Amino acid sequence: MRQITSWGLRLFLLLCLLPAYAAPPILILLNESSPQPNYCNYIAEILKTEGISEFETAPLSNLDRIILTNYSIIILPQTHDDNDINLLADSHLSALRAYASSGNLVAFRPDTRIADLFGVKWVSPQANDSRLRVSTSTRIGKSITPKDLNIHGHCDGYELDSRGVKIAAYAPGGATAIASRDHAIAFGYNLPANLVATRQGNPAKANFDWDQDQEITAQDMFVDDWNDPQNNAINQADEQMRLLTHAIEYFMDSILPLPRAWYFKNQLKSTVIFTSDGEDSTYADELSEVNDVLAAGGTMTLYIKNVSQLTADDAESIRNNILAKGCEISIHPNDVTHAREVTYASMSNAIGSKLGYLNKLLNIPTVQTIRNHWILWSSLNPDQTTNYLSQVNIESLFDVKMDCNYYFYDRASPLGPYLGGPGSFIGSGLIM
Ligand SMILES: [Zn+2]
Repeated sequence: MRQITSWGLRLFLLLCLLPAYAAPPILILLNESSPQPNYCNYIAEILKTEGISEFETAPLSNLDRIILTNYSIIILPQTHDDNDINLLADSHLSALRAYASSGNLVAFRPDTRIADLFGVKWVSPQANDSRLRVSTSTRIGKSITPKDLNIHGHCDGYELDSRGVKIAAYAPGGATAIASRDHAIAFGYNLPANLVATRQGNPAKANFDWDQDQEITAQDMFVDDWNDPQNNAINQADEQMRLLTHAIEYFMDSILPLPRAWYFKNQLKSTVIFTSDGEDSTYADELSEVNDVLAAGGTMTLYIKNVSQLTADDAESIRNNILAKGCEISIHPNDVTHAREVTYASMSNAIGSKLGYLNKLLNIPTVQTIRNHWILWSSLNPDQTTNYLSQVNIESLFDVKMDCNYYFYDRASPLGPYLGGPGSFIGSGLIM
């Protein structure tokens, strides 16, 4: 008996010493039964990119069992689908209604039965691939570009009720696209899915040479002004990330300060990622370019195409004069013999063989970033089915962290070969 009491006392003391669990201010709900669940996982990536790490995630199906009032902000993934079907259970609706009386709700294409929480009435589905015009006079829209932004995929249109505030409309002159009420904001489009489409291009255009330059490349998925070339100077995806962040900051303002890590070192306001293809230059020429960049106080990534031609002396020089100075060496995979039919196997081989040489020469098993010769792009799975993210899957298998197969390029553009035409490839200058 004495033994039990002693252990019980120790356990009691231990529990007293443990700090009480404090939930972070933001909860992201994940809809694992969504046809594209990764788009709600991507909400977390957006927040991290925006320097916000004070959040946690939970499955939407657990909504009934979560103490929602533990959180200052709840982010709800898309719950009104492309067939106009509402996805929330009755118990979810009542839980969210109860929460909204005191908490803050951020929602992407919410179930239309809770539209009133956002100060709107659902009026219609909008045309696919609409445009968005942000009201920059609102607190949330302030400092966002006044130009019309491309948005991709299905959208919902709203009409404001007496308590709603219009944050953005479908342009020109369309229904309300984003609306807020005191403690809630609804996006009529699936913002995370739209960011992916803005950066990665149109999935429907994968694996075909739309610009007829005899190559299957990343740019083929941006033809037909997927991202308006007139907006090439605007990072369209970033603008929409900012819009979400503004809403979160607005809600947190009256509650507590939300810590945000700044994107760039030394609190710089912008940064340029300098990359260069070695192409068929000699190693001496490549080194001279690196030295120019180092002399200007920068660092760069050098993509070497002819890795197999590097000598042991070159390797020694790369260690001392490039890597030791903070620059990156990477590969410039060459799959141009399959330019008109880039396959999973041909691209895997192009990357794998060059990485093999690099590893043998410099003991570097993989690379941080990668850029392909001619920015060729595999949109085929191993079984030859089309998948516009096949290239990304291949690179992740090789543990590559960032794809750099993007730039402004269109041979036929009246603005010149490196401007206009397919539009801003990535919609962003920012690493994700
Ligand atoms: Zn090249």
